[in-house]
Amino acid sequence: AIDGRQALQLFEQYNDFDLVVTDYQMPNMDGFELVNTLRKHYGPDQLPIIGLSGDDKGEVSARFIKSGANDFLRKPYSFEEFNCRIMQCMESIEQIQALHHAATHDSLTGLYNRRHFFDVGRALASKAAKSDLPLCAAMLDLDHFKQVNDNYGHDGGDAVLVAIAKMLIQYFPEQLCARFGGEEFAILFAEQDLAEAESLLQPFIEAVAAQPIENNNHQIQTSVSAGLSSQGDDLDSILKHADQHLYCAKEQGRNQLKSDS
Ligand code: GH3
Ligand code: MG
Ligand code: MG
Repeated sequence: AIDGRQALQLFEQYNDFDLVVTDYQMPNMDGFELVNTLRKHYGPDQLPIIGLSGDDKGEVSARFIKSGANDFLRKPYSFEEFNCRIMQCMESIEQIQALHHAATHDSLTGLYNRRHFFDVGRALASKAAKSDLPLCAAMLDLDHFKQVNDNYGHDGGDAVLVAIAKMLIQYFPEQLCARFGGEEFAILFAEQDLAEAESLLQPFIEAVAAQPIENNNHQIQTSVSAGLSSQGDDLDSILKHADQHLYCAKEQGRNQLKSDS
């Protein structure tokens, strides 16, 4: 791009850049303004930016960093120096992204973890409450899972958890699904009411009971119980109600859904 303005136009057009290297002095929009504008949309972990400066006193480099650039290069630089800075910048972004993934996902199933569920779910719940939009949440727990471990070993149990997670992604592609811990999962139905959530949960529960999970030439039969609720002012209280329904589903014979309705 010949200047900051054209760079922004390219972002609007393509939106999939991995790295920005920008000079300070450019016509129409300078490097600081470009960095400032990009940072309103992309954090330093999402889009690395390297600023180029020609001054000797370090003022331009400092302003680049203050504007949100990850790093800077002082001109003139050798090709090797340029290469090293870019590689270093990309590696550190990849490490941050790997850390972020590890902090938000469950390592066994690849589903989101409890922390991420609460981070995103609390925001969705408060948005729903403010805008008067429907929202409900389900708590799910595998039935007699301890017996699966006892009968097929811990590996067999793990295989069941992975298979259930796959089914969750398949049956709830638009919802926020997470492994809450152990053999418990949670689903957030944003902008969906109880009836809609029930119509999605019921076939899932039936499918889990109908399809044994294959592991080491064994057919592992399993089932899941679920509690669903839309009652409460925030996510924590909705989940508390869903958990009470889950308890009832267990008490009343498992392999079923209980909800407010
Ligand atoms: P209920 O129908 O009442 O839910 O019975 P349950 O046996 O499923 O419940 P319980 O809480 O007694 O047992 C849960 C078991 O889940 C115990 C624990 O060893 C097992 N578990 C928890 N996390 C994991 C895991 O990551 N892998 C495996 N294989 N087992 C796990
Ligand atoms: Mg449990
Ligand atoms: Mg259980």
